[in-house]
Amino acid sequence: MAVVADPAGSTASARPAADPAPAAVEIDEVTHVYGHGAAAVTAVGPVSLRVPPGEFLVLVGASGCGKSTLLRLIAGFEEPSTGTVRAAGQPPRPGRGAGLVFQQPRLFPWRTVGGNVDLALRYAGVPKEERAVRIPRLLADVGLHDVERRRVWQISGGQQQRVAIARALAVENPLLLLDEPFAALDALTRERLQEDLRRVSAATGRTSVFVTHSVDEAVFLGSRVVVLTERPGRIALDLPIPLPRGDVKPEDLRALPEYAALRAEIGHAVRAAA
Ligand code: ADP
Ligand code: MG
Repeated sequence: MAVVADPAGSTASARPAADPAPAAVEIDEVTHVYGHGAAAVTAVGPVSLRVPPGEFLVLVGASGCGKSTLLRLIAGFEEPSTGTVRAAGQPPRPGRGAGLVFQQPRLFPWRTVGGNVDLALRYAGVPKEERAVRIPRLLADVGLHDVERRRVWQISGGQQQRVAIARALAVENPLLLLDEPFAALDALTRERLQEDLRRVSAATGRTSVFVTHSVDEAVFLGSRVVVLTERPGRIALDLPIPLPRGDVKPEDLRALPEYAALRAEIGHAVRAAA
């Protein structure tokens, strides 16, 4: 398990300007180059992409195609080499305006489960009494009950990742950014977390950008899927996913003929792009 000094990816939010409603994310002609001179590597672009509020966008592509770079640009951890990135109409500021979930949960192991979520709320200035009410509710939202007082090492990897999602959702951030959050989990746990994330996402309507290399995960979770080419990542396919997002059983969803068709189309695009 990775441990980092950053207490939480999610923090106090800058609320989007009410009028006129800007895109949740606006990426305009962005490229990103790592290194200089002969060692320069163009990781992304040019990419232009507009994410409206409430969308669950999934970025799919082969390993090394620039997915994480694109997500880091949206989070404000990287500056674009050319072009512009806007989140809620503003240049993104690291640690502000987005909840983040990574492949590893990145929790503080010496804190309790509740204590980890509490940190994000404290950082956002939520008063103590309110935090005490919100923590169990947030944990319940991601399917965790009776673990608030447990230590991080006393719960499973899947449960730890649920805590990481609860922490990212803790603050009323306009954006949720997830970088292959289920890649390290076993297949069954992964499926359960996908189902819960789909449910929580439909309930909260939070704008999300989710990175994966799994075609099935993309179709299952996304309201829109963007397939990236090999490095430098450009848009190979941009497809709305017109599947029901409300109260639908995962097995019923997967059994839909449209589900299979979307899976096939995206799978084909991913293979063609690689
Ligand atoms: P993905 O998430 O799709 O696997 P990344 O965005 O991590 O891809 O990386 C895209 C490309 O940029 C890769 O070829 C990777 O080696 C390169 N890259 C990523 N981060 C750095 C960095 N900090 N310095 C130099 N090259 C990098
Ligand atoms: Mg990556």
